[in-house]
Amino acid sequence: MERIFNFSAGPAALPREVLELARDELVNWHGCGMSVMEMSHRGKEYMAIQAEAEADLRELMGIPASYKVLFLQGGASSQFAMVPMNLLRGKASADYLNTGEWSKKAIKEAKKYGQVNVVASSEDKNFSYAPAQNTWKLDPDAAYVHYTPNETIGGVEIFWTPETGNVPLVADMSSTILSRPIDVSKFGLIYFGAQKNVGPAGLTIVIVRDDLIGQTVKGTPTMFDYQTHAENDSMYNTPPTYAIYIAGLVFKMLKSRGGLAAMEKINRAKAQLLYDTLDASTFFNSPVARDNRSLMNIPFTLKDAALDDEFLKAAKARGMVQLKGHRSVGGMRASIYNAMPIEGVQTLVEMMKDFEKQHG
Ligand SMILES: *Cc1c(COP(=O)(O)O)cnc(C)c1O
Repeated sequence: MERIFNFSAGPAALPREVLELARDELVNWHGCGMSVMEMSHRGKEYMAIQAEAEADLRELMGIPASYKVLFLQGGASSQFAMVPMNLLRGKASADYLNTGEWSKKAIKEAKKYGQVNVVASSEDKNFSYAPAQNTWKLDPDAAYVHYTPNETIGGVEIFWTPETGNVPLVADMSSTILSRPIDVSKFGLIYFGAQKNVGPAGLTIVIVRDDLIGQTVKGTPTMFDYQTHAENDSMYNTPPTYAIYIAGLVFKMLKSRGGLAAMEKINRAKAQLLYDTLDASTFFNSPVARDNRSLMNIPFTLKDAALDDEFLKAAKARGMVQLKGHRSVGGMRASIYNAMPIEGVQTLVEMMKDFEKQHG
C-alpha cells in the first residue's frame, strides 16, 4: 500500500526520506554490526550520534552558546512541573498567558509550586484568539512568563514574541518548533515534545539559558533538576537513544532543505491553501481569529455537524486520515507539520471542494 496523508496532531507524520534512511540503517548502522537501538549510550558511536543531533539543532535554530540543549523524557507535560520547580528560584509567583487547553494544563501544574498570575486569557471566546500584549497584566517581580505560542488543539498561534523585560520568557513550543525561524535569545527557556514536528514520541527537548539552571525548589527529584542533565550532557541516565537518532535525521533533512526560513515559506504556502479554501466557502468555517491562524494545526467546522462522519469517510476514501477535530472544538483539524507535503494539502482542499458541491 502507498503511504497515506496523515493529518494527526501527534504523534504525527515523519518525512518519508527519514523513515527510509532509518530502515536502511536499522539492522546494521554504518557497518558497525548493530542497530542504534542496541548501542550503549556511552559508546563512541552513539555519543557521536547525539552530539551531531545537538550540533545540527543548534545550527538550525541559531541557539547561542549560553544555552543548554537537554534531551529528556516525560513529554512536554512533565515540563509543566519542571519549569516551576527549576525556574521559580525563590520567587513567589510566575506569570502565565492562558490561550487554550495546553496553557490551562501548564497553569494547573504550576499552581502546585507557587502562585500563578494569569496575565490574560482568551477563554471568553472559547480560546479562538490570543490576547494582545497591551492587555497583559505582567508582574515585574514574576519568576518568569510562560505562554504557548501555538495551541495545538485550538489552532491559535502567536506570531510575535512577547516583551517581558528582565523576566525570563518560557515557551511551550511543542507544535510550532522548527516550523519557522525564531530568535532563541529572546527566551529563557523553550521546551517541546518531539512527536509533533521533530521525531518519535519519547523525546522531550529543553533549551535553557545557563543562568536559570541550578536553583530548584527544595525536594526536587534529581531527574527533574535541569542541572543534572546539563552537567551530564543529557546522559545522567539512559537517554531515549533511538528517538534522538531519528530526530537527528530530521534535523539533517531540514538543513538540506534550506533550514527553517525555507520551511516557513513552504508551511505558509500549505496553510494559505487551506485557509483560502475555508474563506471562499460558505460550507466550511475557521473558528480562529485571522491574526492567530496557526500554520501547523488548522481546525475547521462543517456547516452541519451531522455530516462530520461522512466527511471523515470521504477523506479516508481518498487516502487522508486523522482529520477528526478535538472534542473541545468539534469539527475537523488538519495538522500540517513539516512532514506533510503540499500534495497532501492539495488533495484535502480538492476533496473539501467536492464535498461542498455535493452537500452544500
Ligand atoms: C502535545 C502537546 C503537549 C503534551 O505533550 P506530551 O509530550 O504528550 O506531554 C503539551 N503542549 C503542547 C502545546 C502540545 O501540543
